[in-house]
Amino acid sequence: MISPYRILERKRAGGSLREAEVRAVVEGAVDGSWSEGQLAAFLMAAAIQGLDAEETHSLTLAMLESGEQWDLAADIPTLTDKHSTGGVGDKVSLVLTPLLAACGVPVVMLTGRALGHTGGTADKLEVIPGLDLELDRARCLDLLEDVGMAVGIATSAIAPADGRLYQLRDQTATVASLPLITASVLSKKLATGAAALVFDVKTGNGAFLADEGESRKLAELLVQTCVSFGRRASALITDMSQPLGRWVGHASELKETLDCLAGEGPDDVMEVVYALALELAALSRVELDSSHLDEAISSGQARERFERWALLQGGDRGWLAAPDLLLGSHEHVLEAAADGVLSQVETRTVGRLLGEAAVSGSGRSRRIDPAVALQYGVRLGDRVRAGQEIGRLYLSRADDRLAAELRNCFVVEESGAAPPLIVARVAG
Ligand code: URA
Repeated sequence: MISPYRILERKRAGGSLREAEVRAVVEGAVDGSWSEGQLAAFLMAAAIQGLDAEETHSLTLAMLESGEQWDLAADIPTLTDKHSTGGVGDKVSLVLTPLLAACGVPVVMLTGRALGHTGGTADKLEVIPGLDLELDRARCLDLLEDVGMAVGIATSAIAPADGRLYQLRDQTATVASLPLITASVLSKKLATGAAALVFDVKTGNGAFLADEGESRKLAELLVQTCVSFGRRASALITDMSQPLGRWVGHASELKETLDCLAGEGPDDVMEVVYALALELAALSRVELDSSHLDEAISSGQARERFERWALLQGGDRGWLAAPDLLLGSHEHVLEAAADGVLSQVETRTVGRLLGEAAVSGSGRSRRIDPAVALQYGVRLGDRVRAGQEIGRLYLSRADDRLAAELRNCFVVEESGAAPPLIVARVAG
C-alpha cells in the first residue's frame, strides 16, 4: 500500500502525483482506509497546489472507475450529453434535450438538485407529478431507443467516490478548485458514456465562477480532460450576470420551458439553446442547422417529444395534457428605485433568496414550494423610470422583507449595458 503520509507530503510540497498515488487516494475514500483528516488534507493540498493535466486525468479515471460505467455509446454511437455549471433561471437543458431528440440527436443527461444559489434541473422536472428520475442502464437505453432522450438524477452507483469527496470539499472550502471540479463533473458524465459532450460554463456574478478568466480555464480543463478520454467535446462560456429568461422558480421555469418548445421562448434562452444544440450536432456529426431546430419547434415535434418522454418516465398523463403550473397567490411588485438604466443585477443573491424561499429541510424531509417565482421583465441596459415594475415576486405567503431584499438586487444607475450572452467558445 502506498503510504498516505508520503502522498500528502509530496502534494503539499507541490509535486506531481503518479497515477497509482492518485488512485490510492480515491480507493482510500471509497473503502474508508484513508481517514477524513487525510482526505481533507489531500483536497486542501490539491486546491492550493493545483493538479496538472495528468493528475486531473488520473483523478477523473479513478473516480469514474469507483462506480458503474454504462458505456451507452456502444449501443448509440451518436449519443450526446450536456453539462451546465449552473445558473439562475437556467432551463436550457430542459429545452435543449427534447429539441435535439426531435432532430435525431440522442441525448442522455444525469442531472442534479439545487447546488448553492443555482436551481437544479431535477427539482424543476419533479414539478411534473409522477415523474421518476431514477434510471439505470437498461432503462436509459430503452428511453433512448423509444424517444431519443433520457433524463435522470445522478445515482450513487455512478462515481461513488465523488459523493464522499464532494461532501468533504463542501466542509473544507475546497469546492472552488478547477481540477477538483473537473474530476467531479467528468467522473459522472463519462460514466454514462456519451460520445460527445458540450459544456455550458457560466460566467458573471450569478455563476459558480464569476470571473471570466476562471470560467475560461474551467472550460478548457473540462474540454481537454474529456478529449484525453477519447470523447469529442467543446464548451461555450455564457453570461450569467442576470437571470436567464423571464422566470426564476420551479413551476414557472417549467412553464417557460414549455413556452420555449412551443416557439414562444425568450430570445436569450433560445440563443443559448440553439448555440449548444448546434455544437452538439456538429460534435456528433449529425447534419443540422438552425432551420432544422426552427422546424422541430414550429411543427410541434419538440413539444411533443417532451411529452412522450415525460410519459415514459412516469409523468402523469392528465397533467401533461394540461399542465397545472400555478404561481404563488401573493404578488409583490418590484419597482425601479430611480430613473436610469438597469446597470447591475445581484444575480447570486437573487438565486439564493429564491432558493431559500422555495426549498426547506434537507434529506428525506426536503420540501420544495414550486409556486415561488420571480418574473423578471427588463434586461441589463434597459432604460427604466422610478416606480416602473422591473420584476414581480410570487409567493405562497406574503413576505415584505424578502420582496425588499430582492428589490435591492436590481441596481439602477445613469448608464449600463448588457454583456454579450455568448462570451466565448472553447474547441476540443
Ligand atoms: N458540480 C459537480 O458535480 N461537482 C463540482 O465539483 C461542482 C459542481
